[in-house]
Amino acid sequence: MTPPPTIRDDLSLMAGYHSPQVDASVRLNTNESPYPPPAAWSAMLADEVGRISFNRYPDRQAMALRRAIGELHGVGPDQVLATNGSNEALQALCLAYGGSGRCAAVFEPTYALHAHIARITGTVVNAGERGEDFRLDPAEVRRLLAATDPAITFVCSPNNPTGGAETAEMVTDIISRAPGLVVVDEAYAQFSTWSAMAMVNDASPVVVTRTYSKTWSLAGARLGYVVAPAAVIAGLERVILPYHLDSFTQAAGLAALRFTHEMEGRVKLIVAERERITAALDTLNVKVWPSNANFILFRPGRSSSDSPEPLDSPAPSSDRQGPPSDHRLAMRGRAVWQGLLDRSVLVRDCSSWPRLNGALRVTVGTPPENDAFLVALGEVLAA
Ligand SMILES: *Cc1c(COP(=O)(O)O)cnc(C)c1O
Repeated sequence: MTPPPTIRDDLSLMAGYHSPQVDASVRLNTNESPYPPPAAWSAMLADEVGRISFNRYPDRQAMALRRAIGELHGVGPDQVLATNGSNEALQALCLAYGGSGRCAAVFEPTYALHAHIARITGTVVNAGERGEDFRLDPAEVRRLLAATDPAITFVCSPNNPTGGAETAEMVTDIISRAPGLVVVDEAYAQFSTWSAMAMVNDASPVVVTRTYSKTWSLAGARLGYVVAPAAVIAGLERVILPYHLDSFTQAAGLAALRFTHEMEGRVKLIVAERERITAALDTLNVKVWPSNANFILFRPGRSSSDSPEPLDSPAPSSDRQGPPSDHRLAMRGRAVWQGLLDRSVLVRDCSSWPRLNGALRVTVGTPPENDAFLVALGEVLAA
């Protein structure tokens, strides 16, 4: 028997991206909205779906949706591309602007899919290090951009999994230095006080990606979009599959935009709960990173090793061996994660991720879910 065909050499060592799903009654691990979309949205969508001609291909350009998204941000439909989740937007950006012979810059720790998707498209990834408290460090940004000449520079603001938003000054500085596209991933922008959206115009190489998965309570619909210079959108249209966005998703996204007020109400609730959880965590024996998103990164046990590792370390961060105290923090984080799960509260275990050393990420849920989390954490830390 002949052996099965092998996949590309450069993929064989890569693990697929997945967020482990475990049964738990309180699920605070994937940054979804804890609230369903409004009932009136469901009714409107049911009505719309009844009118779709499913024997026909969808509107290939998704023009009505693009126009509506454009109106939301004060740009024309030629500056918008709607995609299957914002991850498809990231993939299209890498296919069109990255690829063989080109590289992308990321600043770790950050959203793992930026590097992952880039590599799948054959783009070389050069990783810089975030500075203290996981902010972008201006000197490190300059070093990486000058040393690697990236075709794409990824900025995640607010940053997943650390929660902080970048400043307008920082992003302006990156735009002025980056030799290629600057992609600002704003999956959590509505929870934050600042957005790079106003920086998008046809004269600068800035691209903003957004998603319906978090603020719009539509993770199940798979809808995201890019706002970019018209020439960039035209570039992305070359690599997107024909009819990539089905009629149902287009209808769901259009209907959602009729409920902006309700979405903003849910965001307000979540932000208020985020502040309540942050204050409660501050009274426990944990380190908390201030968040501008719908999740909070925290580390059980305060430590003296919260300062960044040296920036000129030659080894890639994933190969680094932390000092023993970091190892103990990682073990402790893992034990707290398990203790929470034993109480049926599931959070994201980042304890062994590079630089995060024992940190856990909790998504803001409904008030009762957040209470359950805080009670469980108090018990686990006291044990
Ligand atoms: C959740 C998330 C996304 C969203 O991905 P979708 O494909 O739109 O669900 C994108 N970027 C970041 C940083 C995220 O955390």
